[in-house]
Amino acid sequence: MIVLMKPGAPLSEAREVMRRLSQSGHDAHVLTAGQNTIVSIASSRLREPELEILSTLPGVERLVASNSPYKLASRNVQPTSTIVKVTDNFRVGGDQIAVIAGPCSVENEEQIVSTARAVRSAGAIALRGGAFKPRSSVYSFQGLGEEGLRLLKQAREETGLPIVTEVIDHEMLDLYFDDIDVIQIGSRSMQNFPLLKAAGESGKPVLLKRGMMATIEEFLMSAEYILAAGNPNVMLCERGIRTFENATRNTLDLSAVPVLKEKTHLPVLVDPSHGTGVARYVASMSKAAVACGADGLLIEVHIDPTRAVSDGAQTLAPKDFETLMVELELVAQSVGRSLRPVADGATQCELQEQALTATSW
Ligand code: PEP
Ligand code: MN
Repeated sequence: MIVLMKPGAPLSEAREVMRRLSQSGHDAHVLTAGQNTIVSIASSRLREPELEILSTLPGVERLVASNSPYKLASRNVQPTSTIVKVTDNFRVGGDQIAVIAGPCSVENEEQIVSTARAVRSAGAIALRGGAFKPRSSVYSFQGLGEEGLRLLKQAREETGLPIVTEVIDHEMLDLYFDDIDVIQIGSRSMQNFPLLKAAGESGKPVLLKRGMMATIEEFLMSAEYILAAGNPNVMLCERGIRTFENATRNTLDLSAVPVLKEKTHLPVLVDPSHGTGVARYVASMSKAAVACGADGLLIEVHIDPTRAVSDGAQTLAPKDFETLMVELELVAQSVGRSLRPVADGATQCELQEQALTATSW
C-alpha cells in the first residue's frame, strides 16, 4: 500500500501520516523525489477503518494498492510521463525524440571534437563518449580517464553539446561531478548499489542502462534506488540482453519499451549499437525503437569507425548517421513526434509542414 501525498504537500504532513501508521504497528517510510512524496507501507494488514482515516489526513491525495517492489518509479504513483530536463535544449520524455550520439570511447582531441561537430550538424542533441571504460577484459583499452573528460569538456565548449559519460564508481562521481551533464550508469553497473545511491544523492540527471542479465522489474528496482535517494531525473536505456542468440552481440529487447512505458513514468531510451553489435543493423533498430515509443536513442558514431579503439564494428560513420537522422524524422512524425524541438501544442500537420520546409537542423 502506498499513501500518495498531494503535489507540494509539506514533508511534515507525510511524516505525520508515517507517525500515525507506526503508532498502530505498521512499518512505513516517507519517500520523496521531485514533486512526488509518498508514504510506503510495508505491511498489508491495514483494516478498512484505518484506510478511511488515512485518506482524510491533511496532504493525502489518495491511497494506491500496490505491492510492487518499486514505488516512486511506478506509473501508479505518477500517471503523467516525466520529462528530464538537462538543459533548455536537451529534454528527454516529451514530444521531441532525443538523439545522443558519439564514440564508444574518447580517444584524442581530433577524434572527439570532429565527431561532436558531425553529430551536432546531423541533429544530435547531446554528445556521448566514454572516458572510463568498464571493459570485460582487463587487457582491453580502459579509457583515457581524466584526460578523456578534459577532451569531452573541450568538445562541449566547441559545439555546445552537453556530455553524457559513464561513471563506474561512487568516488569517481564525487571527483568529476561538476564536469558531467548526464551521469551514465552502464549495464555492468546497474546493480552497483553504492553508485546508484550516490547518483541519487547527486541530483544530476542519470542515464541508467539495463543490466545485460536483468529483468525489467530488476531494472526498475535499480531506478528506484536513484529516485529513493531524492533524484527524480532518471532516464532508462534498453541496450540488449543476453540470450542464446549469437547472430547479434545482444538481443535488443524492444518489447521492453512498451512494457516500461506502461509500468513507469520515466523516459525510455534505446541503444541499438550495443543492442545489436553490428553497424548495419543500427538504422533499422533505431527506426523500430522510435516507432514503438522510445523517447530517445543512444547511438555510437565515430569520425572513422575502422580506426575506433573500442566497438568499431557497431559504430556508424557520420554520413550514415546523417542519413539515419533524416529517415528517423519521418518515423518520428508518423508517431506524432519529432527530432527537432516541438513547439507546445504543435499538431501533426504543423510537424509535417516543418519537415517539408526545413532542409537542415
Ligand atoms: C557504452 O555505452 O559504451 C557501454 C559500455 O554500454 P553498456 O554499459 O550498455 O555495455
Ligand atoms: Mn561501446
